[in-house]
Amino acid sequence: MRRYVIAGNWKMNMLPNEAIEFMNTLAPMVKDTKNEVIICAPFTDLFYTILSAQQTNIHVGAQNMHWEESGAYTGEVSPNMLKCINTEYVIIGHSERRQYFNETDETVNKKVKAALKHGLKPIVCVGETLEQREAGQTVDLITGQVEKGLAGLTAEDLDNVIIAYEPIWAIGTGKTATNEEANEAIKEIRNKVREEFNTDDITILYGGSCNDKNAKELFSMSDIDGGLVGGASLKAEQFEKIVNFN
Ligand code: PEP
Repeated sequence: MRRYVIAGNWKMNMLPNEAIEFMNTLAPMVKDTKNEVIICAPFTDLFYTILSAQQTNIHVGAQNMHWEESGAYTGEVSPNMLKCINTEYVIIGHSERRQYFNETDETVNKKVKAALKHGLKPIVCVGETLEQREAGQTVDLITGQVEKGLAGLTAEDLDNVIIAYEPIWAIGTGKTATNEEANEAIKEIRNKVREEFNTDDITILYGGSCNDKNAKELFSMSDIDGGLVGGASLKAEQFEKIVNFN
């Protein structure tokens, strides 16, 4: 049966007290959903968010990590640091990390492998810029990101991997991809995964100005398994409506 996943990405927002309040408000609102609910919190909120998620059906993820276990990497957080506080998911290769922090498909691949090695489930982000879309490069670009980002993984590994297709021009802009554009791109990613890993068993989300008004239509498309939600995940009352779209 199809599994829907609704993941919130708080980005660099929320103080610990706000995180706890959000979780306490959201938990009763989503307790009956069959969808998987994930909140990806900043490092300083993670521990509080994980504690608040105990006895609920809300899963918690980080937004980034280093691939090494320890060492002279000032300011970085390792996969085992995340794992030891019971973090379950980690976003890898978000376009904001690629754009502002020089992440590449190669570092994404190292991080994905390290996450899996430590029992963390990576949410791997791919997506094209507006220029790349207009130049007709979308399919090559996103399938290339999938191929390089997931290189060296097995079909079994994919049970613990989520891919998020996030067109960069739709992130935080209020400009959503049409249902068809999002579905087509995700279909191409699915084909690529089939070609590389010989499996159809992969969860692929759409992200980019997803909100309580457009979620139902987007998630009703044939190939979209849910959403990675930025801005609309900051208010429990709005995020709840996206989680409870069905
Ligand atoms: C995101 O941060 O992954 C995202 C999709 O942001 P927004 O929903 O705000 O466009």
